[in-house]
Parts: sequence; C-alpha cells; structure tokens
Amino acid sequence: ADLRDVGRRVLVQLQPSLAAAGPEGLPEGGCILVAADLSPSETAQLDTARVAALVTAQGSPTSHTAILARTLGLPAAVAAGGGVLGMADGALAIVDGANGRIYLDPSEQDLASARAHMAEQQALQERVAAQRSLPAITTDGVRIEVCANVNLPEQVPLALSQGAEGVGLMRTEFLFLERGSTPGEDEQYETYRAMAQALEGRPLIVRALDIGGDKQVAHLELPREDNPFLGVRGARLLLRRPDLLEPQMRALYRAARDGARLSVMFPMVTSVQELLALRAACERLRAELDAPVLPLGIMIEVPAAAVQADALARHADFFSIGTNDLTQYVLAMDRQNPQLAAEADSLHPAVLRMVRATVQGAATCARPVGVCGGLAGDPFGALLLAGLGVGELSMTPNDIAGVKAGLRAASLRQLQALADRALGCEDAAQVRALAKEVTA
Ligand code: PEP
Ligand code: MG
Repeated sequence: ADLRDVGRRVLVQLQPSLAAAGPEGLPEGGCILVAADLSPSETAQLDTARVAALVTAQGSPTSHTAILARTLGLPAAVAAGGGVLGMADGALAIVDGANGRIYLDPSEQDLASARAHMAEQQALQERVAAQRSLPAITTDGVRIEVCANVNLPEQVPLALSQGAEGVGLMRTEFLFLERGSTPGEDEQYETYRAMAQALEGRPLIVRALDIGGDKQVAHLELPREDNPFLGVRGARLLLRRPDLLEPQMRALYRAARDGARLSVMFPMVTSVQELLALRAACERLRAELDAPVLPLGIMIEVPAAAVQADALARHADFFSIGTNDLTQYVLAMDRQNPQLAAEADSLHPAVLRMVRATVQGAATCARPVGVCGGLAGDPFGALLLAGLGVGELSMTPNDIAGVKAGLRAASLRQLQALADRALGCEDAAQVRALAKEVTA
C-alpha cells in the first residue's frame, strides 16, 4: 500500500488530471470519513478540523494508515468490511475507535451518551498529561521505571517532555536502515555520545544491531533466506560478522570512556553459549580500549530464552523482554502478516506465561527485568507486566503519560492478583475482558 501510494503521487505530478478528489471538500467539523482504504499520505494530510473519525473497509490495525490515525488522535475503525461503503452520505453514526465499532442511526440518547463519553475521555487525557512528569509509584509505594524507545539524539527532548525517565531501547539498526551505507566506528561513537549527552545522566540501554527478519539492510547484501525470522538475525548475525559487532562495541566503549552512562543488550539471544561468546568479544574490546565495564544484558525474544532464563541470568546483567518478537515466536505467527494481526496478540496467556518464566528465572540471580516491546506501552498490558514482576517499561513516548497514570492508580498487590488471573485465562479475549474490570 505504501509503495502504491508513492507511485500514485508521482503519477499525479506527471499528469495532474489523475488526481482523485481529496478530502478538501468535506464539511467543517465532526464528519466521519468512510473509504475503501486510505493511503498513508492521504491519512497524513487529513484536516482534523473537518474529519472527526475514519472508517475503512480494508486495511489492518498495524498498517501505516492506522498508526498515523493513532498519532493524529483520530478514532478509526479499519478492516470493517465492504458493508460500510453502503452507508448513505450524510448519515449519522458514532465511531468507537477503542473497540472498533460503528453505531448507525443513533438515537438522541445514544448521541448524548457518546458526547458525554468523549468529554470524559478529553478530561481524563488532560489529567493524565498533566501528571506525566511524576514517577510511576503504585499506591503501595512500588516504583516502576518508565522509559522511552528512542533511536536518535534529536528525539530525546520530546521523550523527556513526555515524562520519560531514560531510554530503555535504542534500536541502533536504524543508523543502518535509513541510509545506503554502513556507519563507521567514529560516526557511531558520535551518535552514542550525543544520545547520552541529551539524556543528561539518565539511563540509556543501547541495543546492539538487530538485523535480519523484518529489518533487512539492502547494502549489507546478506544471503537470501527462506525463513528470515528463523534465520541468521540479531545475535546470530553479530556472532558471524565481527565487522559489524566490533566497530559498534568499540564505539560504545569509547562513549563510556568519555563518561556516557549506558548499558548494552543483545537481541535474539537463544542460548548461554551465544551470550558467553558475545561477552568474551566485548571484554576483549573493552580491555583493548581500557574502557569501563558496562552492564551487558540480553533481550528475551525467543521461547528458549524465556524458559531458560535462570541459566541465562547467571551470565546476563539484565533482561529486557521484546514482546513483539516473543509473541510471534511463542504463537508461531508472523508479526507482519495482516491476516494474523488480530490473533498475534501479546496479551495471549501463553506470552504472559513466558514473561512470568523470565521474571522467575531472573530472580534466581536478582537480575532486573524490563519490557521494551509494544505490550509495555499498552495501558492494560503495562499493568499486567508490573503485576508479573517487571520493574522497567520502555515504550513510544506518546504512551508514557497513560501508562504512568494507570500504574499510579493501582497497588502492586492488586496488579499481582490481576496478573495471576490473566495467567489462568484460556485465551487473549479472556485476558482483555479483565481490562474492563480494572477500568470499571
Ligand atoms: C521486540 O521484539 O519486542 C522489540 C522491542 O524489538 P523489535 O520490535 O525492534 O524487534
Ligand atoms: Mg525484536
């Protein structure tokens, strides 16, 4: 869809008569835009003074269009089916973006209740935003660290203004993905230093290159694989390519030698042996540079790592759970397949049991556990993770205020009881139903 969108825009530049009617002619204020699908560029250009909600027949909740709608704060129901295209122009309807529902021909009473709900939501959002710089301390006094997933130093001030207490995941492969060449050691060093400087002493967890799977870097010309998600990705690639691992680690150690406060973690670790090999390589580079010792942790993204967390904990300084990958590997569902998007749910009890196993394994060596996958930024997911014993959550900056407010409103004891109930559920739908009880 993204590619077709770009192609269509190029064609319109060449031949303006091909331009489709845009949303400019829409009436002012509060209209619901119904379309077969919207391209990402159409969504980005929507005038939120005219459009109050989106309904599309096609698309998926993980498409760029849906992500943009979320960023714009527009309620949207996507993949609603062809039936919605039969809605009469000018008809009255209510769109509930939180639950993906559309109510046709609402009564005066329905409208009044929807308006009251909108006003409540607005007031709630304002309250939550006002408290975003306060720490996330539960009512029984337990502090959960709330950090941001940020890839570039320029993005740090925004994250801090949203209430971030540090960076829990810096995805360094973006330094490679957004350009046509491999950044050298000096350039990487400058970036890590700038990142630490922007954070002014707050914690920074840098993830070593996670290439492969959904993050293909064309200029590295890696061999084609039939199953890239099960192939040479993350730590597996780093161990086979010292020309990628070594400049990165040298750059990080040089930044640390200059006083940068940072930790490093490795993605897609599956075995103790991989971890030991990575640690040995790091220690050799550190000694060569006479740099300080850095905490070296791993991401828990593979079921093998979750169930062997006790063994890994003996050799890792900390864990950070990548629920995006963990979900796809636990459920054997490709995280990019739109047909499986609704089922590849990180709230599935099987995924939550992996989180519990990780926390229990980490506890045998008193290692801290964080979560930096999408579940950490989901307000209900964050409550469950805290209840499961996770001490640090890292997320998209926009999600911080809501997560902090949720944690501040509950006691850890309540959250532990909630997590126990979630672990006993049969499926993700049952877990989601628990969310209604929390917010009720
Ligand atoms: C994850 O898998 O949850 C994660 C944080 O890493 P990424 O999304 O970059 O694979
Ligand atoms: Mg991952």
